[in-house]
Amino acid sequence: MRATAAWVLALSVGLAAAAASQTLPPGTKTAAVPAPNTATVTCANNPNALGLTRIVEVDTTGGPGFGFEHFKEHDFLRPKEVVLTFDDGPWPNNTPAVLAALAAHCIKATFFPIGKHAIWHPEILKQVAAAGHSIGTHTWSHADLSKKSKEEATREIEMGASAVHMAVAGPTAPFFRFPALRHPPEMVTYLGQRNIAIFSCDMDSFDFTMRKPEQVIRSVMSKLEKHGKGIILMHDFQHATAEALPELLNQLKANGYKIVHMVPKAPLQTLAEYDEMVQKENKLPTVSSRPTSSVIRTITEMPQ
Ligand SMILES: [Zn+2]
Repeated sequence: MRATAAWVLALSVGLAAAAASQTLPPGTKTAAVPAPNTATVTCANNPNALGLTRIVEVDTTGGPGFGFEHFKEHDFLRPKEVVLTFDDGPWPNNTPAVLAALAAHCIKATFFPIGKHAIWHPEILKQVAAAGHSIGTHTWSHADLSKKSKEEATREIEMGASAVHMAVAGPTAPFFRFPALRHPPEMVTYLGQRNIAIFSCDMDSFDFTMRKPEQVIRSVMSKLEKHGKGIILMHDFQHATAEALPELLNQLKANGYKIVHMVPKAPLQTLAEYDEMVQKENKLPTVSSRPTSSVIRTITEMPQ
């Protein structure tokens, strides 16, 4: 199966935005783009919006790796091209702020949510999906898989995938990022067998160590200046990043960087046994729906 309806819509909106900001090559046909919706009009009216330059489809067969910090085999970005990635969400306030900043610039990113966060805040993750971003996974509980047995690590990966898929209630991407970028070789092999692409990064913003948005902006811009292009790792979980993003995106635009959106050729297939495990976890807090009056009854009242 190729792109889903949501992705197609996202691509259309993204391309319309790119056309509006004149970042597509001359002669590119945009006639197939549907009538603009409200979001597109906002983008079209903003000449300072980044817009998408390219959308690349990833065939995840065999679990290809991306991000030169660990994987060198696929150097697909052109000079000045940037892929934005956000880990550890979804989280109240910060993730919606990141979404708003991305929408204002008519661009798409890739998110790597944590399974537990996804089932705590499914409504936020659904907003990420509705905005047309790619949604990969980042384990169930953000465990360091290099310290886990193969069985435990597999459960972390698969429960994370099932939880994110369940929260989105729609297609997700077979994209995965290891917590702390620790890649145990046997789990790299496992992901290859599952046809899930592995994302490291070209530039780690280290935004999780920062409290001030200016620090995040400086970190990303200085690393980009050095590398010239690449996949950038940030965290929608982090307040400083959410605050930094509007100005960071303005600076990317001002410095001539271009945004590339990575989408999967086919959606992630979750495994039924792990779907069931997540369903059980998800139901734990509400396992009893009996009214309090039927659970607790006063049998003796002491005289006051
Ligand atoms: Zn993380």
